Amino acid sequence: MASEPPKPAENLIPSDSNALVQSTNPLHPANLICELCRGFYNLGWVTGTGGGTSIRHHEHIYLAPSGVQKERLQPTDLFVMDYATRSYIRTPTALKPSQCTPLFLAAFDKGAGCCIHTHSQWAVLVTLLVEKASGKEGCFEIEMLEQIKGIARGRGKTGSLGYFDRLVVPVIENTAHEEDLTESLEAAMEKYPDTYAVLVRRHGVYVWGDNWHKAKTMCESLDYIFQLAVEMHKLGLPWTAS
Ligand SMILES: [Zn+2]
Repeated sequence: MASEPPKPAENLIPSDSNALVQSTNPLHPANLICELCRGFYNLGWVTGTGGGTSIRHHEHIYLAPSGVQKERLQPTDLFVMDYATRSYIRTPTALKPSQCTPLFLAAFDKGAGCCIHTHSQWAVLVTLLVEKASGKEGCFEIEMLEQIKGIARGRGKTGSLGYFDRLVVPVIENTAHEEDLTESLEAAMEKYPDTYAVLVRRHGVYVWGDNWHKAKTMCESLDYIFQLAVEMHKLGLPWTAS
């Protein structure tokens, strides 16, 4: 009877281990992140190396590095973190981890499987319009738009918001360094437990979902709604009936 092959000790895994990021499966998180970032670049969401995407795959977190051209991202550029210990098990040489990492981890701690961060101009403009109308404590609120059906009802709840439901997205203030947003992002998640997105004033938006498919659907739906909201405001049309 053949004996079981020895399990590699964790400290023997090379820090630049390519096995974690190389797969012929297009749905492998390392391939998916590169494909998603190319798409998001073309939408103007991750211009000038801003923004990013992270996917949780079982016990591993896949993260794009800081300061890379998002449309040229390769699977071998990705960092991989062990979710339980928060230690990197793959560190590409000559690249720095993303400053978004603690914010992505905050979403994974809430049960997310994927988190997307964009610097979409529509998201930025909406945060300015909310501040003008409701001050710094105001949320983005809108109702009676078909695309609201693209947003899930809340964690642990079944289905999506309906046409007559009001979509509420909290807004937090920007900070000099991205990682310093973590505390206020977590506070917004606690205060609005049903939200799958948090806007950051003059900066962009964080959107997460149970998996990459849901996160992408909600990020696209929200961006569509943000753009529509800006155009409605320009035309003097209200976002809500009351
Ligand atoms: Zn950012």
